[in-house]
Amino acid sequence: MNDYDSDLALGLLKKQGYEQTEDESQADVILFNTCSVRQHAEDRVFNQISYLKKEKERRPELMIGVMGCMVENYKTQFFDDFPHIDLLIGTRSIRELPQAIERARNEKQKVIELSKSGFGYDLYETPRREGKFHAYLPIMTGCDKVCSFCIVPYVRGPEISRPSKEILETVKYLADQGVKHITLLGQNVNSYGRSLRAKRPPKDGSVQHRLAESNLGSEIVSASLGMLPRNDDNFSDLLANVAQVNGIEKVSFTTSHPQDAHEALFQAIRQEPKISRRFHLPLQAGSDRILALMRRDHTLAEFRTKIDRMRQLVPDISVTTDIIVGFPGETDEEFEMTRRALEEIEFDGAFIFRYSPRPHTGAARLEDTTPEDLKTKRVSALLEMQRRITQRNNQSLLGTTCQVMVTEISKKSKEEVLARNWQEKKVVFPGTANDIGRICYVKLNELVDETFRGVRPRPDPTFREI
Ligand code: SF4
Repeated sequence: MNDYDSDLALGLLKKQGYEQTEDESQADVILFNTCSVRQHAEDRVFNQISYLKKEKERRPELMIGVMGCMVENYKTQFFDDFPHIDLLIGTRSIRELPQAIERARNEKQKVIELSKSGFGYDLYETPRREGKFHAYLPIMTGCDKVCSFCIVPYVRGPEISRPSKEILETVKYLADQGVKHITLLGQNVNSYGRSLRAKRPPKDGSVQHRLAESNLGSEIVSASLGMLPRNDDNFSDLLANVAQVNGIEKVSFTTSHPQDAHEALFQAIRQEPKISRRFHLPLQAGSDRILALMRRDHTLAEFRTKIDRMRQLVPDISVTTDIIVGFPGETDEEFEMTRRALEEIEFDGAFIFRYSPRPHTGAARLEDTTPEDLKTKRVSALLEMQRRITQRNNQSLLGTTCQVMVTEISKKSKEEVLARNWQEKKVVFPGTANDIGRICYVKLNELVDETFRGVRPRPDPTFREI
């Protein structure tokens, strides 16, 4: 999402005639797009802003701005701590960026733009492109969950979903521009539609409708009455509809919450081969006590039931996760539960983070009893175990043939291309620039770290030049 915001800001400034430069001494405007999820990321921004103080003294006309989550977190404290900053742009005010720069420059005053409502931009405004074939599309923003370690609800505000009609029009527009792969983005992407449903009064008061409106609705409906009625305001229907847009060949999404991962979503993935086979579902911890302290609203057993069902319906699904190590009060036994959960669930990959207390969060009030060197040891132990599991899972794919979409020329050889299969695994094989954006089938022959090397089967009767 932050990458998307950076590209959006760049697109808005390019429309005003700005050009991007990597050379700081050539820049008229220097902007920091920031993330508050971890203290380490914030510290790096503080250091870089301090470093620019001398440059600002040398060139007072230089505009220095900060965008994103740290602006929501620190607001005008930035101006107090770093008087050489000219402007601050909150997460929902990106559209105001060009005017804010002009005001700060022309009126020689400090400018802050903060809004707690709306998306902050139109979907048509410079949707992010990765090459010609891949676009990221935010379908919702903010979060209504209250995970006790997470600052996102504070810095991004409450959850807002885009109307599905608007999203589908944008997807059609992008497909007409040559985009084949869409990644739907949201802080809690699979809770898409909740804010839209909340606005709509029940049509008939039916059980299905009332359940669909409730938190557990789709799960109960799907278990007892079949799939949710199509209404476009739920994530599974939206996914299916995006996949059906003419010209779209692949649909990915990130990031999901276990509480919103229901049967209807699993069925949508099973029924639509264009939907990516990578499912990222953060577990965070293997101990139910820690999960409750984190306010994740699920137990390990509930999480595992969902993963089992997903794997049963979609056997080729690749499941990845996030883990937080060293949450306040985590005991040796509780860490062991997380280790065992990773070992038993056998994720295809895991992002493993050390707990970092964030302001404005519930967990920041808990006593952090785990020594830092113990947290480091625990992280290393999990990383090493996950590396082995990932390698074992990948090795089991050697000799199989899979569908891939070519993304770019390989950095190591001009005679090879880099592609991603539907499980988002990297595959390198002989090819040329003409293959970029094409979908083809590749036999996986070799594994180097986490990248497969392969060949197109010859003759390649399944090759689809798309
Ligand atoms: S669901 Fe995700 S974004 Fe929302 S509070 Fe929890 S961790 Fe943060």
